[in-house]
Amino acid sequence: MQAEIINGLEIRKAILEEIKTETAEIKAKYGVVPGLVTILVGENPASVSYVTLKVKTAESMGFNEIQVNMSADCTEQELLDMVEKYNKDDSVHGILVQLPLPKHIDENKIIYAIDPDKDVDGFHPVNVGRLCLGGEHVKFPPCTPAGIVEMLNRKNINTNGAEVVIVGRSNLVGKPLANMLCRKGKGANATVTLVHTGTKDLASHCRRADILVAAAGCPDLIKPEWVKPGACVIDVGVNRVGEKISEKTGKKVAILKGDTDFEAISKIAGYVTPVPGGVGPMTIAMLMKNTLNSLKFKLGLI
Ligand code: NAP
Repeated sequence: MQAEIINGLEIRKAILEEIKTETAEIKAKYGVVPGLVTILVGENPASVSYVTLKVKTAESMGFNEIQVNMSADCTEQELLDMVEKYNKDDSVHGILVQLPLPKHIDENKIIYAIDPDKDVDGFHPVNVGRLCLGGEHVKFPPCTPAGIVEMLNRKNINTNGAEVVIVGRSNLVGKPLANMLCRKGKGANATVTLVHTGTKDLASHCRRADILVAAAGCPDLIKPEWVKPGACVIDVGVNRVGEKISEKTGKKVAILKGDTDFEAISKIAGYVTPVPGGVGPMTIAMLMKNTLNSLKFKLGLI
């Protein structure tokens, strides 16, 4: 068996096209566009490249994008004041503070300061609570797990009654994904097991998964013999395992690997996601979707 590769880049492209079209329609009808503020503190190279991509993507969607760069030695109060400024700004529908923050700033304090109705990352406890309640309460599902659910649904992978095993219980990926997939309703309704470092027999859990999600951050953690033939394997892991010279730019770039052995698993599974080019591209698409939805909530369209 050769697994079908789920191409996150293609799915992202389709989602962004839809968002762009809807943004233009809303602009024509209501004269407003989604406003997104991205706040970057310091110059951590990975954060700079993530923010640059978010800014460029938002601009290409026709959003009003405001990029704020603050110095690495700004005070916690200065950052709180910046968040508050945009909480009060009616033209802003989404506020994103790029994490991680410098050590002298309490990340939770900053996340808690963002208006939950502008928290397009979905990290504020109010949005975590809304996600747990499910249904009409959900406003901003966190972007990476939302991207995984979107991917499964767009590929028509049956989740109804499926055994889903998620390796990793982080607040960013594992826990919210478990919540989303076990809810009652179309595109979910799965039986979910969350496994972690305290799990006794990881292999036996993975072996019964119809959908196996690896979100541990451990290269090659998932062995091919742990994969049920025909299963869907979603690899969230992004592990830097070395460096190479990019053919495109001639510069040094990281060699990335997921939590699974992609080649070996492709011969057993029914569906696989590559790293890079699988789950990663979905995250930004869902950020744009949350930002558009924030405006739609405000206009009473959803
Ligand atoms: P995290 O906060 O470090 O959580 C990792 C989870 O995996 C923890 O629950 C941990 O268990 C579990 N785990 C680690 N090693 C394990 C092992 N050997 N056996 C069983 N469970 C194990 O990481 P995260 O933020 O969720 O990210 C996970 C991976 O996804 C990382 O590689 C990250 O870079 C990647 N990621 C990718 C995207 C994307 O857009 N593509 C977004 C977010 C994250 P304990 O709780 O017991 O410690």
